[in-house]
Amino acid sequence: MNYVEFFEQIGKEDIPIAGGKGANLGELTNAGIPVPPGFVITSETYLKFITKTGIVDEINKMLEGLDINNTSELQQVAEDIKELITTTEIPDDIQRVIIEAYNALCVNVELDDVVVAVRSSATAEDLPDASFAGQQETYLNISGIDDVLYNVRKCWASLFEARAIFYRAENDFDHSQVLIAVVVQQMVNSEKAGVMFTVDPSTGAEEMLIEGAWGLGEGVVSGTVTPDTCRYDKINDEVKSYKINTKKTMFTKDPETGATVQVEVPEELKDKKVLEDSDLEQLTTLGRRIQKHYGAPMDTEWGVENGKVYMLQARPITTLDDISDVDDDISLDDSERVILTRGLGASPGVVSGTVKVIKDLDELDKILDGDILVTTMTTPDMVPAMKRANGIVTDEGGVTCHAAIISRELGIPCVSGTGEATTVLKENATITIDGKKGLVYEGDFAKEEANTQEVAATQQVAAAPLITVTDVKVNVSMADAAQRAYATGADGVGLLRTEHMMLETGTVPYKFIDEGREDELVKVLVDGILKVVDVFYPKTVWYRTLDAPTDEFKTLEGGENEPDEANPMLGWRGIRREIDQPAILKAEFKAIKKLHEEGYTNIGVMLPLLHKPEELRQAKEIARSVGLEPHKDVDFGMMVETPASAIIIEDFIEEGLDFVSFGTNDLTQYTLALDRNNELVAKHYTEAHPAVIKLIKNVIKKCKAAGVTTSICGQAGSKPEIVEILVEAGIDSISANTDAVDTIRRLVAKVEKKIMLEAAKKTLNGE
Ligand code: PEP
Ligand code: MG
Repeated sequence: MNYVEFFEQIGKEDIPIAGGKGANLGELTNAGIPVPPGFVITSETYLKFITKTGIVDEINKMLEGLDINNTSELQQVAEDIKELITTTEIPDDIQRVIIEAYNALCVNVELDDVVVAVRSSATAEDLPDASFAGQQETYLNISGIDDVLYNVRKCWASLFEARAIFYRAENDFDHSQVLIAVVVQQMVNSEKAGVMFTVDPSTGAEEMLIEGAWGLGEGVVSGTVTPDTCRYDKINDEVKSYKINTKKTMFTKDPETGATVQVEVPEELKDKKVLEDSDLEQLTTLGRRIQKHYGAPMDTEWGVENGKVYMLQARPITTLDDISDVDDDISLDDSERVILTRGLGASPGVVSGTVKVIKDLDELDKILDGDILVTTMTTPDMVPAMKRANGIVTDEGGVTCHAAIISRELGIPCVSGTGEATTVLKENATITIDGKKGLVYEGDFAKEEANTQEVAATQQVAAAPLITVTDVKVNVSMADAAQRAYATGADGVGLLRTEHMMLETGTVPYKFIDEGREDELVKVLVDGILKVVDVFYPKTVWYRTLDAPTDEFKTLEGGENEPDEANPMLGWRGIRREIDQPAILKAEFKAIKKLHEEGYTNIGVMLPLLHKPEELRQAKEIARSVGLEPHKDVDFGMMVETPASAIIIEDFIEEGLDFVSFGTNDLTQYTLALDRNNELVAKHYTEAHPAVIKLIKNVIKKCKAAGVTTSICGQAGSKPEIVEILVEAGIDSISANTDAVDTIRRLVAKVEKKIMLEAAKKTLNGE
C-alpha cells in the first residue's frame, strides 16, 4: 500500500483510498482541468495510524452504548475522541512519506515552505447518497511540515465530529468501516471564489448556477456571506440573470500571521460585481468540460487567483433524483397574506410551523418535530435538528449555501438570505414559509394551500398532456384572469397587456403624473403585474408597455384633455406617445424594477408599435434612467406590428433585441390599410394575406440567423391555419388566448410531427 498518492496517480474510482474530494481532484487533474497541485494521504494510512498506535480500541470503547440523541453526551464523546487523535504521535515510517511528499510540492514551486490547504476527504462524504456539505474539516494557509502534520491529525480527528458520528449512526454506517483520507494541496490565494453547479440544482434545468464572493471560498460554502448569484443559460450561451448582493465579510490570508482570517469587505467592494465577463467565460467553459468529462451534472468549487480560475472540488449533484418528488409548483398566492420577511427561494415547498430561533448550538434541543428552524446560517452541527424541522429560514447565505443544500437534500422548504429573520421572527410564532418564492408569512395555511394547489395541479395535468418543441404561451389582458390562464398549462405569458390595469383606475395615467402621484401609478402597476408574474413564476411573462389609442381614454377622469384625432389607430399610441411623454414609461419600468428586485426574474419587456430603431434605443435609455438594465435585468423585445419594422428588422436586431413578437392585429391592419375596428371593411381583413405572411417569414428568417427569439401574440396565434405556417417557418413560440391554448398546443404537436415525418421520408428516399 502507498501512504501517499499524488493527484496524477488518482482517478474518480479511487474514493475508497483517496476519499471523494481527493479522487475527484485527481480525476480533474488528469482531465487537464486547472487544479492546484497536491497529494492525498490515503485512507489506509489513517487505518494504519489508528491500528499501529493502538488507539482504535480506545475509540471503539468510547462509542459503545452512546445515545446519539443525547446532544451533550454526543458532544462529550466527540471531544474525547478528537483529543485522543490529535495528541497521538504519527508513527515514523508514515511521517517520513508525508514529509517527502510535502517537500516534493515545495520543489514544484521552488519555495522552501509551500503554503497548502489540508482538507479531509471522507470516503463516505462525497458518495452520491451521502453528500452532506461540509461534513469534514478544511484547514487553510498551512505552511511548514510540523503544521502540516498537526493539521493532518486534525483532519483525521474530524471523522469524529459530533455531527459525523450522528450522521453515520443515522445512516447505519459502521464507525470502524468509515475511513478518512487527507488532501494536501497547494493553496490558491483566491481574490474571489465560490461554487458552480453545472445545472440548476433545484430544477435540473440546463442553467449553470454560479455563486461568487470576495476572498477564499469558505465564505460561500459555509454561508457566512450572501454571494453574487449568476444564472447562465447553457442553451443560448448567455447570462440569464446576475444578482449583485452586499458582501459584508470575506475570508483572507492575514498578511502578518499567514493565518486565515474573516475580515470586513472593503466598502468599495461590498456592492461591486464579483464575476467579470472573463471569469464567467472561464468558469462556464470549465463547467461544460467537467460535466462532459463526468457525463453527469456536477457541483463544483472554484477560486480565482491573478485572473485565472482554478477548480478546487467537484462532485456529482446529488439532489436531482429527488426533484420529481418535490411538488415544485406549490407556491403561495401572497395577495392577501402578511409577509414577515423575504429571502431567496432555496428549497421549494410550502410548510407551516412554530418559530424556533437558534442563536447558539446548545439551543438545538429546543427544535421539536415540525418546528421552523430560524438561524443566522446553519452549520453542519445543526443537521440533526434540521432533520426534525419542518422548514428552515436563515439570515445569510445564497441558494447554494449550507442551509439550501441540506434542505434540498432533506426535502424540506428553505428560505435563505433574509438578512433579518432572527430579529424579525418572534419565538414561538406560527409562520408559513414558501421555499420557492423565498417568502415568510404570518399564520398557518400550508395545508389549505396544498389542497387547492393539488386540485389545480390535477386539472392542469389533464389539460396539458402534450409536450411541444414550439412553446405554447397565453395572452393575458386582465391580471385577475391570470390563474385561469395558468391553468391551461401554458409555457408562459407571451403578451401581458397593461391597458386594462391602467384604465381600471378610472383615471388617465397622465393625470397621476401631472398631479405628482407617480407612486400611486407605480403601485397600481406593481400590484397588477405581480398577480401575473407570481402565478406564472418561474415561467416568463412578457409585459407589453402601454399602447392605448387616445379615443380609449376619452371617458376616463382626465380624458377631457386627450387630443381629438381623426385616425387614433394611426395616431398617438404605443411607443410614439411613450417617448413623447416618458413619465409613463418610467413608471412602468420602475414597477418592473421593483418586482425584479423582489425576485421576479421572470419578466420581459415588450415594446409596441415601433417603426424605427431609434425608438428601441430611446426606450432602453429610459429604462436605464430608472436603474433597469435592458438585456441584463430583463429581456428586452419588441412587437412587430408595422410593415416598416418587419421590412428593416435587421436594423432593429443590430440595435439589440432579445425577442420579437408578431402583433398581427396591427400588422394586418397596417399592411392592408384596413382599420381593424371598422366593420365596413372587416370582410377584407385576413392575416393569411400573402403580404402579411411574407413579412412574417422575413422576420423569422432574419431573427433565427441572429439568435433572436420569435413569437406571435396577435389573434392569428389562435388561428390554426396561420399557426401551421408559423411552426413550419420555425417560430419559437405561439401565444394564444386562454380558451385556444389547448387546441393550439394539439395543433402545434401535429404540425411538428408532420415536419418530422416529412424529413424522415426525404431521408429514406435519399433526397
Ligand atoms: C396586435 O396588434 O396584434 C396585438 C397583439 O396588440 P393589440 O391587439 O393590443 O394592439
Ligand atoms: Mg397591437
